[in-house]
Amino acid sequence: MEEKVIIDEDLEWYQLSNDALFERLEVNPEKGLSKDQVLKKREIFGENILPSSKKPSILLIFFKTFLDPLSLIMIVAGVLSLIISLVVGKLTAPDIVGLIIIAFIVIINSIIATVQEVKSQNYVSSLDSKEKKVILVLRDSVKKEIPIEQLVPGDIIYVKAGDFVPADIRIIENQLALIDESALTGENEPVLKDDEAITSNNLVLGDQKNIAFMSTLVMEGKLLGVVFGTGKDSQIGKIATNITTSNKEKTPLEAKVIRLTTIIGIISLILGLILFGLSWLFKDNLDEGVRSWNRLMLIAVSAAISVIPESLTIIVKICLMVATKKMARKNVLIKNPKSIETLGNINVICTDKTGTLTQNKMSVDKVFYNFKETLVNEVDLENNKEFFNCIALCSDAVISKKKLGSPTELASIELAIKAKCNYKKLRKDYKRIDEIPFDSKRKMMTTLNLIDDKKFVYSKGALDYVLKNCSYKLIDGVKTKLTEEDKKVIINTIENFASQGLRLLGLAYKEKTMPKERYEKDLIFLGALGIIDPPRPEVKEAVEIARNAGIRVIMITGDHKITAHVIASRLGIVDDEHNDVITGQEIEELSDEDLKIKLKTTNVFARVNPEHKALIVDCLQSEKNIVAMTGDGVNDSPSLVKADVGIAMGINGSGVAKEVSDVILSDDNFKSIISGVNSGRNVYEKIKYSISFLIAANISQIITILLILAIEKDLALSSVNILFHIFIVETIIAIPIGMGKERKGVMNNKPPLNKKESVLKGIILQITLTTLFNSIFAFLNYQLTFLILDTTNPYRADFAKTGVYIAIIFGPIFYALLYNDTFLPISLRIKTAKKDKFKLNYYLISFMFLAIITTVITLLPIEKLNAFFEFRTENMPYYLWLLFFLFSFVQLPFIYFGYNLLKKTISYYSKNKSAIKSQ
Ligand code: ATP
Repeated sequence: MEEKVIIDEDLEWYQLSNDALFERLEVNPEKGLSKDQVLKKREIFGENILPSSKKPSILLIFFKTFLDPLSLIMIVAGVLSLIISLVVGKLTAPDIVGLIIIAFIVIINSIIATVQEVKSQNYVSSLDSKEKKVILVLRDSVKKEIPIEQLVPGDIIYVKAGDFVPADIRIIENQLALIDESALTGENEPVLKDDEAITSNNLVLGDQKNIAFMSTLVMEGKLLGVVFGTGKDSQIGKIATNITTSNKEKTPLEAKVIRLTTIIGIISLILGLILFGLSWLFKDNLDEGVRSWNRLMLIAVSAAISVIPESLTIIVKICLMVATKKMARKNVLIKNPKSIETLGNINVICTDKTGTLTQNKMSVDKVFYNFKETLVNEVDLENNKEFFNCIALCSDAVISKKKLGSPTELASIELAIKAKCNYKKLRKDYKRIDEIPFDSKRKMMTTLNLIDDKKFVYSKGALDYVLKNCSYKLIDGVKTKLTEEDKKVIINTIENFASQGLRLLGLAYKEKTMPKERYEKDLIFLGALGIIDPPRPEVKEAVEIARNAGIRVIMITGDHKITAHVIASRLGIVDDEHNDVITGQEIEELSDEDLKIKLKTTNVFARVNPEHKALIVDCLQSEKNIVAMTGDGVNDSPSLVKADVGIAMGINGSGVAKEVSDVILSDDNFKSIISGVNSGRNVYEKIKYSISFLIAANISQIITILLILAIEKDLALSSVNILFHIFIVETIIAIPIGMGKERKGVMNNKPPLNKKESVLKGIILQITLTTLFNSIFAFLNYQLTFLILDTTNPYRADFAKTGVYIAIIFGPIFYALLYNDTFLPISLRIKTAKKDKFKLNYYLISFMFLAIITTVITLLPIEKLNAFFEFRTENMPYYLWLLFFLFSFVQLPFIYFGYNLLKKTISYYSKNKSAIKSQ
């Protein structure tokens, strides 16, 4: 006896017999755990939560932001200049202020980053908590639902298709459970589970057939199991320190922006060194106050820092967050900010038909029984009892005050009511004793009912599938063999109904019952219903918009080939180039290579099973397409995961589909996908405006300083000036630029973005021109002051510096207005103008006012203030004020017209060049 216990202890969970399992986990299989046991175990094992699901504290997030490479550069630079100042022993007031400003900028950036991080975490968890996960458990002899966090080892739980396994469990009763373990093992094929103990040793996870692992998904069947591993002790808890990485991963755009900023960071160091070198060279020319090398170092460090667009990463985060909220208002719930970008990049949308392209408001339009077509208003209950029995009994839909059930079933019940069939009474009198539920693979539903002590099978389903299983027919109550001739008549009817876009439902029954596997065999054909499901009126336009935006729309449906094609034509999904339809059966007969070839001309897939969807995504992706796929059922989850953007239906979607998808459509409407793409593209465009604005404003500042230093051997801006510029440009103006109103024009004649495309593509010209004019006018302010003022004026140099300061700060405040679609090619602007009326970016306007007021305060003619900023406004002649402001403002028209002129010239020359080439 003792020996057995020792052996048991060495056994793995999958090797234990049921008794040994219950003994080890101290649970009575009849009763489950008791309340006391649960409390004790909770104390030992804690909550059933994965380590990564615990949220990091705000303080931790805040401190982590300092590890951002850009913050690190700033901190290192600040500390360096502090050390130098201390070593030299001349830490003057402006040095201290400079250091404080650097610290201030780092901290402000960290605060903004922290707020954004916390907000986005809360958003993601608010989406998660909407679907609170519960599981059916046996405790104290009672079955009840509890939140999965409360599970402890020893709990006996019931898991069914559509559930994620809530902990590691040993299966004790298995009913054909098919589990997708790809989250854990990476294996794509679902595993059929078992409940027998296994004797082998050292099994890999995939071979432990009697174990269901936490976070894997039950695709089919159900099982009863005993929990043995929870939270961090589960397999996934042990290996996955961070299963929510997808939410924390950098988006491709963030990654690109970080790369860009790092490159600029390196350039800025070089520029800083040049600045330091030049100013050291000309130091005898400089004001006494700045001559010391620690002051020069601080200026060089500030200037270098000012070149780095450190707020870019935050801007990307904020823009994505704002877009997430905007999209939620348009029924597109984004679960992972990464998918906003991917949505903007997709070039294929694979969409379901029913409910997404159509209204899912079904009604019967055509009835076929006794081998005749009958008008809906003329259906006759008296002579077609079995036909209506089938409608009433093989259905779960109920119409009372509310309509409950699937739209297909509701439509048929409405027909029954029209025919005065009391379906509720039939259901009461003829009890259902067994059933095979509808699934999208068999495309049929069957019930077994007891009628006057006899058992009857009633089946309904896709007409062609039902017909395949019929051997007899019923005409006017008389059962006869179903001949090949009869089948032809029915197929003709199918095609006739389908060519009118009707959805077809076949009805059949039989009197005798056999084993369950044969319920659906040798049926008696009763007739069919042709059901209308009108397309959503807004979809046609949305498909057109998608086409103009270079996005191909592919319909994937379980419906009949002809019906699917008719609906697709009505919606403009098929065209001359893509006019073929492939059925699920054909997909199975084609090799992957042939499917890829067929795909080139096919926009409609009919009678497909969910597995085919994953195959279609695979083929499309192997041809370098970026694919969005919609889905609602549990079985759709592999294709939702595989697609670049998995889109679940909010109304008709299963919990699992929502869980594994990247995006949820709260109105199930295809049009919302298109508005999601529109938002995705807009975010990218707006972020590019911010990037180009920041780079231009930052570079012009250091170029101006270098220009004046090289030509006039003077340092025009102090470190405080430079740091204030960072504050205005980076913190106040650049962020609202990214929050402008959305433009519909992004979808016009524009192919989707190339994933690898540089963020700088298409914005180099505007950056160059802006930098050029900003620096030129700042330089002119400096030079003209010397020209205008008498040599005897002792404040000439100080006024000149004020001019540079005004041009370098007010310039960007004004020309920020250009950073919207102004820089689009003119031809595109004209084309889109009709759709997009000019929309003011109110965020930007209000932040511009804030920037103007703040800067004007720094310019007040107060001696102490002037001394602090190291320029002079006290007693500055009014004409200089006028000149400086004028030269700040005129940068805007110069950049605008200069840009357009240059663009025209370039396109003129490139046209000429290609004309010459073609001659
Ligand atoms: P989609 O895949 O585009 O959302 P679908 O609803 O046409 O569309 P399925 O739900 O797989 O795809 O349905 C396929 C066919 O099965 C339908 O055309 C219909 O004939 C039949 N069908 C649908 N619902 C039921 C049901 N509840 N009972 C029996 N048969 C059904």
